[in-house]
Amino acid sequence: MRVSKVLKAMLGFGREVVILAVEVVEGTRPRLVVEVRPKRRRRGRCGRCGGFASWFDNGDGVRSWRHLDAGFATVEVVALARRVDCRACGPTVAALPWARHDSAFSRAFEDLVVHDAIIGNKAAAAHRYGISWRAVNNTCVRVATEALDRVDLLDGLVAVAIDEVKYKKGHKYLTVVCDHVTGKVVWAAKGRSKDTVGEFFDALGSRAGQLEFVTADGATWITDVVALRAPDATVCLDTFHVIGWATKALDEVRRAEWNKLRQAGAAKAAKEFKGLRFLLRRNWANLTMGQREVIWALEAANRRTFRAFQLKEELADIFALPLIQARRALDDWLAYASRSKLAPFVKLARTIRSYRASIEATIEWRLTNGIAESNNASIGRIRANARGFHDPQAFITMIMLDRAGLAPSLPWTAE
Ligand SMILES: [Zn+2]
Repeated sequence: MRVSKVLKAMLGFGREVVILAVEVVEGTRPRLVVEVRPKRRRRGRCGRCGGFASWFDNGDGVRSWRHLDAGFATVEVVALARRVDCRACGPTVAALPWARHDSAFSRAFEDLVVHDAIIGNKAAAAHRYGISWRAVNNTCVRVATEALDRVDLLDGLVAVAIDEVKYKKGHKYLTVVCDHVTGKVVWAAKGRSKDTVGEFFDALGSRAGQLEFVTADGATWITDVVALRAPDATVCLDTFHVIGWATKALDEVRRAEWNKLRQAGAAKAAKEFKGLRFLLRRNWANLTMGQREVIWALEAANRRTFRAFQLKEELADIFALPLIQARRALDDWLAYASRSKLAPFVKLARTIRSYRASIEATIEWRLTNGIAESNNASIGRIRANARGFHDPQAFITMIMLDRAGLAPSLPWTAE
């Protein structure tokens, strides 16, 4: 087999790339320098817009791109960066089969860097490939921008979830919009206010008329804008948030009971009680037999907390019922909660009454929490991997790459 054929396969080049020369530069890490040229075509393409364009000049001469490593060696692709005269963009470097426009890395190398930055973090990717953190960051931005230019994520939306995500301590939030149909994030921006939601509807334009369902957490900064900008859409209250309210009410009851025990001087009982906090938050279905026994024992030890736990569990169960049964069960639940003498649940019953139409729409149309929940979990993982984000735009870029499906597949995977 000819060496050039081996080399071509190893570097992942297809018929569109011609290898002219190869050289190894010795060093602590050997460098494989591969001189190439694109296969000649009658007309070139503009590197900026991709349109056909006629030849202009040889540009600034030879350029080089870091390519996928070959074993111990790093690989450098070297070629003349010819220019074309694009009607739309003017004289521009011609599109090359191995690299994105304006990058010192090959496309395949960038795809791997982005892949590593998503599953790990940018610092880990920088270390792995021996490039700077800034270079990793720029690559993520370049890849995300290119992908966003190609697809319109806001096209054909009929059901969306609008939610907020924390990006930094001190009440710094992003607003994130997910598509209920695909489960993907389709839009994200800094801030959580009526203005932020307004920006989403600005981007959506007349397509807002096609929106049939919007799920949200009941915050008026979302629902008010939706009522104004998409008046025909049914607003559903995300079940995830309603159950979250109940969990919070349960926590308040537990804390009040714990304080009572402490003030009564029952230190040991108070300590045991404090340990219940995380157990109570979990779903009954996910508890082990031993954990269930702890909660059963509560019925005798602290009836008020036990009742609060039951109320939380029953509310969660209602969301799994068909609408007619759910309506009846919700009536019963509201009556029971209102008479429970547990102040946080009396208040919760009032809140739920005021959102009742939205809650019933959620049950009827089955727009469950799954999407918001799984996206929030993944977004939380991105934030944790990066050990937080100072720049909201950098966070948005990573969210879009990972959760909007913009991240490129691995270079050797056929698209
Ligand atoms: Zn152009």
